[in-house]
Amino acid sequence: MRHVIVLGAGVVGVATAWYLRQKGFDVTVIERRPLPASETSYANGGQISVSHAEPWAQPGAPLKILPWLLRADAPLLFRPHWDTAQWAWCLQFLHECLPHRSARNTAANVALGLYSRSSLIELSGQLGLEYARAMRGILQICSTASGLKSAAHAVRLMQANGCEVRMVGPEEARAIEPALRHSQISILGGTWAEQDFSGDAKLFTRGLTQAARQAGVIFRLGAEIDRLETDQTHVTGVWLRDEEGGYERLAADDYVVSLGPQSRGLMLPLGINLPIYPAKGYSITLPIEDESRAAQASITDEAQKIVFSRLGGYVRAAGTAELAGYDKHLNPVRVAAILARCMQYFPGVGDPAKARAWTGLRPATPANVPLIGRSRLGNLHLNTGHGTLGWTHACGSARALAELMAGEKPPIPFPFLR
Ligand SMILES: Cc1cc2nc3c(=O)[nH]c(=O)nc-3n(C[C@H](O)[C@H](O)[C@H](O)COP(=O)(O)OP(=O)(O)OC[C@H]3O[C@@H](n4cnc5c(N)ncnc54)[C@H](O)[C@@H]3O)c2cc1C
Repeated sequence: MRHVIVLGAGVVGVATAWYLRQKGFDVTVIERRPLPASETSYANGGQISVSHAEPWAQPGAPLKILPWLLRADAPLLFRPHWDTAQWAWCLQFLHECLPHRSARNTAANVALGLYSRSSLIELSGQLGLEYARAMRGILQICSTASGLKSAAHAVRLMQANGCEVRMVGPEEARAIEPALRHSQISILGGTWAEQDFSGDAKLFTRGLTQAARQAGVIFRLGAEIDRLETDQTHVTGVWLRDEEGGYERLAADDYVVSLGPQSRGLMLPLGINLPIYPAKGYSITLPIEDESRAAQASITDEAQKIVFSRLGGYVRAAGTAELAGYDKHLNPVRVAAILARCMQYFPGVGDPAKARAWTGLRPATPANVPLIGRSRLGNLHLNTGHGTLGWTHACGSARALAELMAGEKPPIPFPFLR
């Protein structure tokens, strides 16, 4: 049986390992951290949001984003660096804002999202995984007239692509989520995606790791990948480096890159320049102290692009994007902006002093469409670049890649790499 090495144990890498094993491959996963899901998949917004498939790169985006760019608490922040990768990414982003590109990217993301959401539900049922799942839909709140208008546009686009989502008025929004009656943010209306849901990506990934181990997948945790070795047409091995400076070489028939934001750096020495740049985001996790003030549905704040998910006894609020390289220090201004918005929506839900802050780097492509399929090196496959939707798309991407590697045709219209 063919042996595959999966590089990276975030939600995407672990799901890939699982689906490859189901297709009969021998699978080894390599991860530098002692536990899976310790990087971007650790404390994200928790949303399985097919209804938010529209990428940031859309026709109105440049004008909308411009006034935000240098504001310290803005939803999107750009810190220019002497880094050609950053500027090249931004230029490609502008290209993806063209109407035909944006329409193509949205359609691809919806198709992958629908496949992924049903695969996740199926897998959760099959394995009985516990990950604080709340099948209560996603309610997007609009507090400005312009927000309502762009939400209505997005809803028409989603519906045209087969995603179930509809507009709601302020009364219906409060009826769907009674905790919003305490909100200090004015609610003009919003969108309601009843089939979408939320859950903890870290718990899911770690639970799936256990199931994959039992199914025969080997995990090499705490192992840093130093480089890939090639003979120009194929990968011939992967070199690991230990803390003492020792090296070890592993070899397999095929390799899958799922290294999140680090994917680009590992591929560059092979002459493959992936269009992935880190988009830093923040989350806060707050213990719930007053149940009546906590939402059951997952909520998206259209104006500030912040999402709120209930994860068991906690509220997770997440958002903002900072194009500022690989730096992961916590900027207190951005943490405070998310926390303040959370307390405005759900006053009294918990004690803000008890909030735990986190930051992670989304592996963002300019189109926000992940890179799935074969690279130009015959046995090197990609499953990376999931940007804002990695939790939503993880199971579908992994299943589709496993199908491709098994010589099957995935049942979705998606621009897979060949
Ligand atoms: C604030 C925020 C909120 C978000 N909210 C949502 C949401 O609500 N819904 C949604 O769908 N998505 C959301 N996302 C996006 C989602 O979290 C990511 O797309 C997803 O986690 C990416 O998973 P990954 O497996 O590709 O990357 P990662 O989770 O980063 O996994 C990559 C792994 O590779 C390992 N690695 C890297 N380099 C090496 C090396 N040299 N050797 C060995 N191992 C290595 C890393 O340690 C890591 O474990 C959010 C992201 C952020 C930051």
